[in-house]
Amino acid sequence: MDFRRALVCAMVAIHDAGVRHFDIRNRNVLDNKGFPMVIDFGEAEDHECECTMEIVENIPAPFDSQFGCDELHQLCIDLRIWKPGMFQYIWSSQPAADYLCRPYSLAETAPESWSYEDAVYEAYRVIDEHLKEFYPEDYSGWCKMVEKMLPPSRSRSRASDETSPSASASSALNDSLSLSEIPPANTTTFVDSQ
Ligand SMILES: [Zn+2]
Repeated sequence: MDFRRALVCAMVAIHDAGVRHFDIRNRNVLDNKGFPMVIDFGEAEDHECECTMEIVENIPAPFDSQFGCDELHQLCIDLRIWKPGMFQYIWSSQPAADYLCRPYSLAETAPESWSYEDAVYEAYRVIDEHLKEFYPEDYSGWCKMVEKMLPPSRSRSRASDETSPSASASSALNDSLSLSEIPPANTTTFVDSQ
């Protein structure tokens, strides 16, 4: 197990034991023959950890509020356990977990001034760019997941589609692949027993 992962496991164990450190920084983590040793509990406090998620490596970073524990969340961010949680689409920042596999849903967030076709094209472009940069080792696997997505049964402009309820219904159906269902191949789950 590498040092970063071992440190995450150690900190999860510390939180599970009911302690929040409050001063995690380089000088408070010693390297004991390759194993992290957390020291200086001078600022530590009792803590009932409300972390709700397993820490899985190499997935888009969850939101702090979803995750449930800000010290563990910040640690995972600092150690780059996760990939970026947000990515840029046109003029707005979008959550990667919601949209990386869903170009058609992403296109729905485009400004009204964009045609639907342009919005879909741009969605594929930014998703492809993000996957290439942050998931190079899983790139082909990701592409297959994205390709699995069938286009929703509409190809007209968004303006003419706005009154059609069936369009959004089929979009939701076809566009329902979830990152949590199919994580990238080289993920690691951190469990207490390690
Ligand atoms: Zn905690």
